[in-house]
Amino acid sequence: MPSRREDARPEETPDQATDSLAKYRAKRSADKSPEPVGTVSVVPGRLFVVHKHDASHLHFDLRMEMDGVLKSWAVPKGPSYDMADKRLAVRVEDHPMEYGDFEGIIPAGNYGAGGIIVWDRGEWVPLEDWREGLEKGKLLFELKGYKLRGKWALVKTKRSERDWLLIKERDAYVRQPGDVFPEQSVLSGLTVEEVKTGQTHASRVRKALEVDGVPRGRLDPHDTPVML
Ligand code: MN
Repeated sequence: MPSRREDARPEETPDQATDSLAKYRAKRSADKSPEPVGTVSVVPGRLFVVHKHDASHLHFDLRMEMDGVLKSWAVPKGPSYDMADKRLAVRVEDHPMEYGDFEGIIPAGNYGAGGIIVWDRGEWVPLEDWREGLEKGKLLFELKGYKLRGKWALVKTKRSERDWLLIKERDAYVRQPGDVFPEQSVLSGLTVEEVKTGQTHASRVRKALEVDGVPRGRLDPHDTPVML
């Protein structure tokens, strides 16, 4: 149940008390970065997204929809299908649902400046009570993405409130030797390096046509006979 404005305690502004995205917004300038400002979604769902984010340090961000926002963890080394790899996942501020579609360039001087792509995306399925898990520090779930499949766990460490570990659980999806993840965005097919240097899908197609020596010419609809 989304909390309502009436629940606001007097010492807090309504926004801080009722909106888990207040921290997210406080870090960003809507007039300077194309990232979504966002509102808390009231349509229940279980979207998960992994962003690849080429900021001051290249990292991945795992985001899982819970209570109308994307709970987020920054994973410096990214996910691994090897069960022996326990990947550090630092809990960061909740992100709005609209962020699940976001890829592009966060301009220099802004929080998280750099390129960002939707590296993977799909549905997550809790295998245990996730509310309790989030509180106690252990989430067991299944991912149904394009790249990430099967059972995974997020386990909070004793080292700090923010430090969790992302671990692959045993199943048919554990890594085969030599397996690597495709680098491209599952939305645009672009790598984060291409996005960062301002490429778009169209500019990449144009470049490929040039390389293949496809003749250039203007296409004027007035000179083109209608196909009958
Ligand atoms: Mn990030």
